[in-house]
Parts: sequence; C-alpha cells; structure tokens
Amino acid sequence: MGKILHVDLDAFFVSVEQVLNPALRDRPVVVGGEPSLRGVVASASYEARTYGLHAGMPLAQAQRLCPDAIFLKGSFPRYQEASERFMGILSDFTPDLEPAGIDEAYLDLTGFESLYGPAAETALRIKRRIKDEIGLTASIGISSSKVVAKVASGVAKPDGLLEVAPGEERLFLAPLPIAKLPCVGPKTEKVLRGMGVTTIGQLASLPPSLLKASIGLLGEVIHGYANGVDERKVEPTAAAKSISRETTFAQDTLDYPFLRGTLYYLSERVGAELRRDGKRARCVTVKLRYADFHTITRRRTLREATNADQAIFDVGLERLERLLGYRRQRVRLIGIVVSGLVNDGRQLSLLDSSTQGGECLNRVIDSIRAKYGFTAIQRGRTLVLNNFFPREKGEYLLPTPALSR
Ligand SMILES: [Mg+2]
Repeated sequence: MGKILHVDLDAFFVSVEQVLNPALRDRPVVVGGEPSLRGVVASASYEARTYGLHAGMPLAQAQRLCPDAIFLKGSFPRYQEASERFMGILSDFTPDLEPAGIDEAYLDLTGFESLYGPAAETALRIKRRIKDEIGLTASIGISSSKVVAKVASGVAKPDGLLEVAPGEERLFLAPLPIAKLPCVGPKTEKVLRGMGVTTIGQLASLPPSLLKASIGLLGEVIHGYANGVDERKVEPTAAAKSISRETTFAQDTLDYPFLRGTLYYLSERVGAELRRDGKRARCVTVKLRYADFHTITRRRTLREATNADQAIFDVGLERLERLLGYRRQRVRLIGIVVSGLVNDGRQLSLLDSSTQGGECLNRVIDSIRAKYGFTAIQRGRTLVLNNFFPREKGEYLLPTPALSR
C-alpha cells in the first residue's frame, strides 16, 4: 500500500506578504491587484475569507463584500523564491517529490516508515520546518493515492494534518461535497447537481456509463476519484533544459493540413511532458528540414511560461507559417522544441478559473492516455494524421524513435 503525502501551503501569496510585512497579519488581505482594475482575487487571507472572499472572485466584488480588505498587487519573484525554499525543504525528506504547482507537492513515502517512523510524524516534521524556516503554515494529507491525499490536505486546512487509513478512502470521501474533488469545476458541479448529486459518495455510486454520457471523458476520471481510485504515481521532476519532439516524413510534403496536424500532435507530446515534469516553457522553437536537407529554426519567447498544448501549438503554428512563407519547398522533417523551462508556478494573470479549467482538462487527458494510449483521445486537428500514420497500442508510429514516448 502506497503512502503518499500532499503538502499544500495555506493562502500562499497572502501568507508570504504577511511574513514580509507583520502589519498585514490577522487582517483581511487580498493579492490580485487594485479593486479599481479588472481582475480577480489570486489569494485571500483566512480573515478575508470569513467575508466570503475567495480566489477567482472579481476584485470589485471582493471590495464590496469586505471594504476593509487590503489589496496588494503581489510580487511573483517573491512567491517564486518562497516556493523554491519550500520545495528545498521537501526534497530533504525524499527524492520522490513532485511539485504540483507553486505551493503544493506530492511526496511518496512508500516503504519509508520502517526507516523513519510513521508518515504522520514525518509530516509533522515537515510542517515544523516550513514554519521555522519560511514562516508559513502548510496543510498535509496522507493516503494511499494522490487524489485522496489532496482532498485530505484540503479538508485539513489551515495548518492541519489528516491521514486517511488504507481501506477508509471511500468512507472518508463519501460525505464531502463534490466540489472538494479535484477536476470537479463549477461547470461539472452544476451538471452533477442537476442530476441530484451533491456528495462524493453519491457520485461514487453512479454508473460510470451515465457519468460518461453526461460529462464526457472527465466523467470516467472523477468517478474513479470519487471511489478513491487514482493510478497516478508521484513523478519526480526531471531537470531537463529543453523538451523536443520531431518526425521525419516518409515522403517530403507541402500538405498544409498535414503539417499543421503533425505540429499539433508534437505540441501535445511536449505539453504532456512539461506537465508530467511540473514545468512550464518560455520559448517555443519550430524546426523544418526541407527536401534538400536545408534546416531552419524559428524561435519565439512567450510573455508567460506555459504548459498548455494549445498555447504551444498556437506559437508553433505562427512560426511554421512564417517558415513556409519564407521558403516554399517540400518538407522532410518537422520538429518542435520548448525551452526556458521554469517550475510550474502559476502566474498571477493566469489565475482566472478558465485557465485552471484548461489545465484540469489537460491533466485528465494525460491520465486517460496513460491508461488507454495516446490516441485514445484526439483533438479534431490531429485526426488528419489517421490518414498518414499507422497506429499501434494507442500511439501513432512515427518514423522517429523520440516520438514513441
Ligand atoms: Mg495552497
């Protein structure tokens, strides 16, 4: 039985501000910007939350609900620094550490207890070090799977510790509201409520086929989660400097929909690897090799680092179109490289709920592909590849070995 910890810092951005400026302590504080600006709450202190403020709420509404709140623009470099110290502390306990955002991480302590004592004691030591060295509080969930550990840390907040014993996972989840389950966003919650489902226990006992019919692919994943079933492993981060995927074509081509479809597929592969490694990329490079072996690359630096398939593809496509306009000759190889990797810390302007929904969708797609193969889910754009590449075990067989991953 696995022993997984989910460690999550409490009200992270706001808490960092409160450590730096003691005058902010025990006050309703909001990080996100001036309420006169359009924008949303990125982080609210627990004092502000008692007024109903929460992340994702428009700033203007937050000010109406809590006129005494102190609004701060926030400073991403400060949060990045605190995050690095946080991850540094965690890495002292185990190398099996997977950052899952700027302020949270999973640790795998399976087989650890005979050497270092019960996981709950280790968790208390982790909490103490975070408090002593960074001044922040963390909440920790312990369970046999990532999803239950994450829900448990959420229930334990703030400054809590909750261990769900093996075999007790379903019992623990059952009475909780569905919104506590990862990947159940406001839209999904509304659909489920329409079906009369308000608790995770009710969700767990629905037939999976019904969920799939009403919610789609996400239905299958959240049904598993509701039952405490989560095959995802803790994946330690790789220190890769860049991630690339490329393929040589059997025949040189200038078929635009085909090149575009291939680029999308390659973008999805690098996007999946970025997310798996807990990274985002600042640079996207497209590489073309022409029939005469002349090779050109075009790179663009993004304003914000990303790990979203669509964002990588959009930049790649724009580069591809430039390259094709520059030199109209048949192409024998296309590749995409993402570089300028940073740890997967969410940036302030990315904190609106629509972006988070996209991330959740990407994660769901990753988990389904881990189970059923890469081609189990396809975006419309890559379906064109069915006409060109053979498939085996849920993967396209592309001519370059790097693509078989
Ligand atoms: Mg947090």
